[in-house]
Amino acid sequence: MRTPLDLSHRTAERAPAPPRDLAGLGRDALQSAVVELGVEPKKARMRAGQLWRWIYHYGLTGFDGMTDIARDLRDQLHAAHVIGRPEIADQQISTDGTRKWLLRYGPNVEAESVFIPDVGKAGALCVSSQVGCTLTCTFCHTGTQTLVRNLSAPEIVGQVMIARDALGEWPTSTEDRKLTNIVFMGMGEPLFNLDAVAEAIDTIADGDGISISRRRITVSTAGVAPRISELGERTGAMLAISLHATRDDLRNELVPINRKYDLKTLFEAIRAYPDLSNSKRVTFEYVMLKGVNDTLAEARDLVRLLKGVPSKINLIPFNPWPGTAYECSDWETIEAFAEVLNRAGYASPIRTPRGRDILAACGQLRSESVKQKASERLRARLADGGAGEA
Ligand code: SAH
Repeated sequence: MRTPLDLSHRTAERAPAPPRDLAGLGRDALQSAVVELGVEPKKARMRAGQLWRWIYHYGLTGFDGMTDIARDLRDQLHAAHVIGRPEIADQQISTDGTRKWLLRYGPNVEAESVFIPDVGKAGALCVSSQVGCTLTCTFCHTGTQTLVRNLSAPEIVGQVMIARDALGEWPTSTEDRKLTNIVFMGMGEPLFNLDAVAEAIDTIADGDGISISRRRITVSTAGVAPRISELGERTGAMLAISLHATRDDLRNELVPINRKYDLKTLFEAIRAYPDLSNSKRVTFEYVMLKGVNDTLAEARDLVRLLKGVPSKINLIPFNPWPGTAYECSDWETIEAFAEVLNRAGYASPIRTPRGRDILAACGQLRSESVKQKASERLRARLADGGAGEA
């Protein structure tokens, strides 16, 4: 007996391609998106410039209001594109005004960003460059979460756009801005994701859009020495170094990447950072850990170590997190340590902890995301109707 052929799977309609998200794209990518719609390359440059302004200066999330773009092109854009934002999985506001967002970039891919008022010129956004981290600094909460993946440039820029939405900062104004500084001090090691970080900085710093100058963007590294001067050359950003110890034996323990790039190698790289001067100084972060790195002898060692490097010092009172064995140094110890630095010419080096009540302070960021095996990712994608990450 012949069984009829089942052809139903062939005729089943394919799910339409998801719309392309233009938010966070760089100038070149925006221009290609316009070329793909059939706009001739010369005009595409101009159109991309218009789109750029609507997205990054005015913060539009739809095409309707783009009055200088012809209606048919707006319709074409609308048909296959969106101007989106990362999904906000959770948000919290601290009693001190600090705000923290947990952003979901895909199933099981979440990262945090934190806005801290009254830091920098007016307020700073602390952005994440990776979900999780490969480093295992022993005092850092993020360090207990293994790397899930790098964030892309649009995903990093999305953190800034979310903050500006919440702060009502569109269109970009030249005065009274609340968000004036960006610090890459959230989750992850930015120098292990330098391409995306550099591309994101190009977008954030562009004077025709979000317009946060490179001098107000600081990238912090645990000490990936071979990428430090490249960071400066590609981004013009300010450099911060998570130092935390003045001797190799202790730093090997606290910041294990020191075993690969020791203090001597690290300081050679720092001294070669482009354009260092009194107005472009390196920030050295030093977490105050009780009985570990907080003696006055270490304060004096720190002064010696930084000799000749235009620097600022940020003493960070250790922020505790669940399960840590470290404690924050006593306040008198921190003040005495700071006094040694003050006498050596470093003004007000203690960083007031912000947002501790919502685990938003330095080193407290962490998400529940874990790296999934390929088979788990596939399952999640299927369960998600096929719209998950590629
Ligand atoms: N990986 C980069 C970016 C993270 S910056 C780097 O290490 O520089 C986050 C800063 O907070 C770093 O200086 C880090 O050492 C510091 N930090 C981490 N955990 C901390 C904690 N529990 N308390 C205070 N500071 C902490």
